[in-house]
Amino acid sequence: MKGGSYMNIRNITRSDQKLAHFMKLEEKRQIEGLEMIPSENYVSSSVLEAMGSILTNKYSEGFPKKRYYGGNEYIDEIEMLAMSRAQKLFGVPHVNVQPYSGSPANLAVYLATCKPGDTVMGLDLTHGGHLTHGWNVSATGIFYNPVLYHVDKTGQIDFTELEMLIKKHKPKLIWVGATAYVYEFPFRKFADLAATYGAYLAADIAHVAGLVVAKVHLSPVSYAHIVTTTTHKTLRGPRGAMIMVTKKGLQKDADLADRIDKAVFPGLQGGPHDHTTAAIAIALREAQTPAFRKYGKQIVINAKTLAASLLKRGIKLVGNGTQNHMLLVDLIPLYGSGGGYFAQYALEVAGITVNKNTIPGEPSSPFYPSGIRLGTPALTTRGLKAKDMIKVADWISRSLEAVRLFSLPSKREERKPYMDNFKKKVHRDRTLLKIRREVRLFASKFPIFKM
Ligand SMILES: *Cc1c(COP(=O)(O)O)cnc(C)c1O
Repeated sequence: MKGGSYMNIRNITRSDQKLAHFMKLEEKRQIEGLEMIPSENYVSSSVLEAMGSILTNKYSEGFPKKRYYGGNEYIDEIEMLAMSRAQKLFGVPHVNVQPYSGSPANLAVYLATCKPGDTVMGLDLTHGGHLTHGWNVSATGIFYNPVLYHVDKTGQIDFTELEMLIKKHKPKLIWVGATAYVYEFPFRKFADLAATYGAYLAADIAHVAGLVVAKVHLSPVSYAHIVTTTTHKTLRGPRGAMIMVTKKGLQKDADLADRIDKAVFPGLQGGPHDHTTAAIAIALREAQTPAFRKYGKQIVINAKTLAASLLKRGIKLVGNGTQNHMLLVDLIPLYGSGGGYFAQYALEVAGITVNKNTIPGEPSSPFYPSGIRLGTPALTTRGLKAKDMIKVADWISRSLEAVRLFSLPSKREERKPYMDNFKKKVHRDRTLLKIRREVRLFASKFPIFKM
């Protein structure tokens, strides 16, 4: 945007220059860079307006028409609007729009369906699963008894292992969903297994909710009992989450909706963030439009084009491509094992934001993983099309090539000094600095939202 700003921070600029300074720098970073973290996006100006509104002043513990505070007549309407839009959009009989974010939403599902110590099942974090699917440092792995399943060499869920584990451990709750998975989630197979062994099936569609709405990804609604999603990833709303109970869920357990609501409040949370609820209502309305359907389609077209262009440049991808919005680059041919750090850092210097990630069968560690994750939702919001993905692929491949000669020291104590030296060098790397200028010029042409 020429000279202007997407933010109205006139008052902050006057009253708190220090903070305003960093906000402006962050805005510049968002405008001049290419945001390729698959879980990030740019919200609309309407969503942003709601987030900065006076609705943040209100307390409304409880649910519409059943509040513990007075003065909620309009907040009730706002929350009911968000709820009815979600019910219509996803085709579910019940929704709770109050979870503060995806992680507390998932914890509420445990609280509603399990007792502490009950056996639960989710995809291993190092195989693409989320922390809240029972990883050991998460409350979900501390208070419950997690049994983790895995993906095979192609990066697809290993159903032989999964069925064996379900049969042996009889979990109360099974999660399907991931943070790094390039295939469509096989909801039907999970539903069959959950039915056979009497478990609750919860689908966590945090990453693909927008694709589900746009009908470019299978909906979990006829398969799972519970569906959770963040609202800020492909759904393009504010940071928040929703828990949906399906018809199937109510058939399994008539009290499920009530137990989910009680788990959110008073089980885990106090007052809902009403400004976020309003912003969710706005995002859900935007997601009902034909334009959003087009957006979802374009995300996948862009991801597939990016995958094809990277493959053409000799870059290895888990699963040789993607079925959704996300790509997982296997960096082992470039740097040996543990090269994710080099790739993430080099790309950052070049103005392309990605995150290092483990790959299936990771030979290194989550801190020094052997892959990076790339996503197209944010770039697609800015209006980039397939032809632009070819340029992006070229920048990525040149950046990865520029740090080709680095490799992770096998001795742990050598890693820190090696990385410090690496960082110093890449900041002066001519190729990366040249790419950064090209990226800045290119990215600045695409608004981060329409005013
Ligand atoms: C992002 C994500 C979450 C958690 O969301 P937060 O808002 O970061 O707490 C949960 N599950 C999956 C699969 C996710 O991708």
